[in-house]
Amino acid sequence: MEYPIHSMDRPQPRIVDPGSYPGMRTPPSDAAVLFDGHSLDDWQSADASGMPAGWKVTDGYMEVVAGTGNIATKGVFGDVQLHVEFMAPPVQGDGQARGNSGVFLMGIYEVQVLDSYRNPTYADGAVGAIYGQFPPLVNASRPPGEWQTYDIVFHRPRFEATGGLTSPARMTILFNGVLIQDNVVLTGPTAHKQRPAYTKHADRLPLMLQDHGNPVRFRNIWVRDIP
Ligand code: MG
Repeated sequence: MEYPIHSMDRPQPRIVDPGSYPGMRTPPSDAAVLFDGHSLDDWQSADASGMPAGWKVTDGYMEVVAGTGNIATKGVFGDVQLHVEFMAPPVQGDGQARGNSGVFLMGIYEVQVLDSYRNPTYADGAVGAIYGQFPPLVNASRPPGEWQTYDIVFHRPRFEATGGLTSPARMTILFNGVLIQDNVVLTGPTAHKQRPAYTKHADRLPLMLQDHGNPVRFRNIWVRDIP
């Protein structure tokens, strides 16, 4: 990769106004709804097996409760189209400490959630980054307090029975309807300050959302298997 991880020399994504907010769309008829705004029945703690998700649910959204930990779906997924909406809290903190959360495909591959509205940070940690690997093509952020959308197409990595990698994970992302990741080939799992190699894992694993200590809100989460 051209830049060391979290390099501040890596160019900042160009700012793009995503246009007017179209409102919340309802899921397609064949989607599996993972969160409809009313309960965390389809979720559990990602950190303590068998424990309930500790985040709060009110007024049609869930909100990170700092310190309760990451949450994961009870269901498992491989190749998917995923829709997630999120909202950054009122401005507090800077850089990685502002509106940080994350959407982890298979619990391993993070699409960064951050309040990147007038909040520069290292490019591979901005909102819509494949964390530590690929900055978003552009910064199509809406201000904190407004709902934002991710539409993610994810192809899981494939492994030989013996553990070798046969094809890496790939990801395409629209952020607020704007293309920000174009079929990027992941280098391996995402991590802080390191780019670990792939290690063989199951074909289907839970989706995970991150507790990074900031009260980020989520709603309208649904997924479609890619045949
Ligand atoms: Mg994060």
